[in-house]
Amino acid sequence: MEKSPWSILFEPVKIGPKTAKNRFYQVPHCNGMGHRWPRSMAEMRAVKAEGSWAVVCTEECEIHPSSDLSSGALMRLWDESDIPTHARMVDRIHQHDALAAVQLVHNGFATSNRFSRIAPIAPSARAARYHDPIQARGMDRQDIKNLRYWHREAARRAITAGYDIIYVYAGHNLTLLMHFLSPRYNQRRDEYGGSLKNRVRLIREILEDTREIVGDRAAVAFRFAVDELVGDAGLRCEEEGREVVEMLADLPDLWDVNISDWSNDSLTSRFGPEGHQEAYIDFVKKITDKPVVGVGRFTSPDSMVSQIRRGVLDFIGAARPSIADPFLPAKIREGRVEEIRECIGCNICTTGDMLGVPLRCTQNPTMGEEWRKGWHPERIEAAGSRDSILIVGAGPAGLECALALTNRGYQVVLAEKTESCGGRLRREATLPGLGEWRRVIDHRIYMLSQKDNVKVYLNSGLAAQDILDFGFGHVVIATGSHWRTDAVGRENHFPPDISGAAVFSPEQIMDGATPAGPVVIFDDDHYYLAGLLAEMLDNNGIEVIFVTPADRVASWAENTLEQHKIQAGLMRRGIRIICHHNVSHIEAGKFSLKCIYSGREQIIDGQSFLPVTARIPDDRLYHEVRERQDDFRKCGIKSVTRIGDCHVPSTIAAAVYHGHLQARQVDNPRDLWTEFRRENNWS
Ligand code: ADP
Ligand code: SF4
Repeated sequence: MEKSPWSILFEPVKIGPKTAKNRFYQVPHCNGMGHRWPRSMAEMRAVKAEGSWAVVCTEECEIHPSSDLSSGALMRLWDESDIPTHARMVDRIHQHDALAAVQLVHNGFATSNRFSRIAPIAPSARAARYHDPIQARGMDRQDIKNLRYWHREAARRAITAGYDIIYVYAGHNLTLLMHFLSPRYNQRRDEYGGSLKNRVRLIREILEDTREIVGDRAAVAFRFAVDELVGDAGLRCEEEGREVVEMLADLPDLWDVNISDWSNDSLTSRFGPEGHQEAYIDFVKKITDKPVVGVGRFTSPDSMVSQIRRGVLDFIGAARPSIADPFLPAKIREGRVEEIRECIGCNICTTGDMLGVPLRCTQNPTMGEEWRKGWHPERIEAAGSRDSILIVGAGPAGLECALALTNRGYQVVLAEKTESCGGRLRREATLPGLGEWRRVIDHRIYMLSQKDNVKVYLNSGLAAQDILDFGFGHVVIATGSHWRTDAVGRENHFPPDISGAAVFSPEQIMDGATPAGPVVIFDDDHYYLAGLLAEMLDNNGIEVIFVTPADRVASWAENTLEQHKIQAGLMRRGIRIICHHNVSHIEAGKFSLKCIYSGREQIIDGQSFLPVTARIPDDRLYHEVRERQDDFRKCGIKSVTRIGDCHVPSTIAAAVYHGHLQARQVDNPRDLWTEFRRENNWS
């Protein structure tokens, strides 16, 4: 048998006393479930193990109530009562022959301890991180002893729970051990401050403590951000970042290395390509003999192999690629590479953690639903009837619905009005930096092309009469939405008078319209689109003024870790930004902007107006068909439903999710929207 070009990825690798069965390593990632929804969290991790990840890690696991990340939902090992939750998850991971790892953490001043109400601690007294009006206490020697004790106790509990790998964590700018390393947080004058040797002391002690506690029952991993990307203000991989690796080289059994802060580590595809961390972390393997894991949104087996062969990494670390496709390793092993549901780097997954709810994924609609809805990314219930199904509209919702229905075994026809599939993504994936988003379409088109129970008709705009004439058993309408151009959104409840400027829609700009400048963009959407349209126009040399009622540009993109980068990008371009103002009217090229706090008006000049405020569902077809309800029976139609943006304009993730849900719902008498298992404490 011919050897697979990727076989190196399936070699076992020793990590201290343990052996990973291959090189696929699901690094720690938060999921918004944690201790609050532990069964959901456990089942999500178990599916990764089933998909052949050799190591499956928890998210951050608080070692003590003085590191209480409420209102987020992470894992905890505060005391013995937390052990069963972990043991349940570890058992599920072990059932699939994977190693279970726990990321022990104390977050120091990067927690406000909103639940435990304990005063936060830090190497030196300072303000706590999260805009709570509280400060952190500078730690004395007893506090340091306590911290070491808490870490040892947590490691002991982790061993009791059955973990194979215990983490010591100094990364992401969010951890107390990282705070000790950084002179900007650590201004101590004792043996834990000052020189790098002193600032590393506590990490060394905790690594040694952990080793002593776990013995040969588990491996000790060290997660470390080698560069903070803040220049001289923080660690740099050519200087102290490197020296730390040299000082601790063979102390841990495994190095898990990345860059800081989280927005740089989990960089979105808009701001960086696959493998973007290599230049920062590639020195590590030259210094240590211990295995090294790193991340970089790896989805291509060729780049994975290249990382191993060129001696950059021993393990292919992944958080997001394992979320988008928990079966990524299995698909590579089985030579089904084209079937990988590649992560698009949109960071909808991080919004779960940021907003304190179970994570979701644009590409993988089953993510977060493994336990509560019993959904599996690779298996789906067989068709409940022999009905044929018509889907109208091949955007993300229609494509996912078609794919899931064909997976169930239904005969499906997908009709699309335009000459290609993709819906809104046909345009949006052409925006600067969003090319990888096309994967949402490409994956589904490829998978459908492999099936013989689906027919896709392009250039096939359907009318209500067509649908009745065809007589499919079920009709799913996924005709999408369009942006409104009247400036109505969150701030404006009624259309203001905007007759004094040429008005453009986002679709027109994406299709290449070049309005006369200055163009006033009014962003009441608060996500990526307005900023990208500003970039597009600016690239074409058209002056842009960015107006928003929010206090910042793209404020919701904080949840995708992009807000800072988006605003910084617009500012670097010199685009004028006017925050906390509404557009109240436009007269002869004069835009009246009203301050949402004081009500004061200011006037700016502009020729064109581009509102990015809200979308209107394209649901006319749906209503026209529904009006003919009396004819359904004689046409053989059992149900007509609408999904995705045609139902409610929302994120692409929401459209994919709805398409998937409808595919499961079609023959199901129960309401799958509302039906899910709850995790009540006593259940
Ligand atoms: P969603 O995000 O809900 O999938 P999109 O707007 O991305 O919505 O996609 C909707 C798709 O439906 C578009 O490709 C559009 O061309 C197509 N469409 C709209 N009306 C019709 C119709 N009457 N017949 C067939 N396709 C349609
Ligand atoms: Fe990747 Fe986006 Fe899914 Fe996150 S939500 S795993 S970034 S596709």
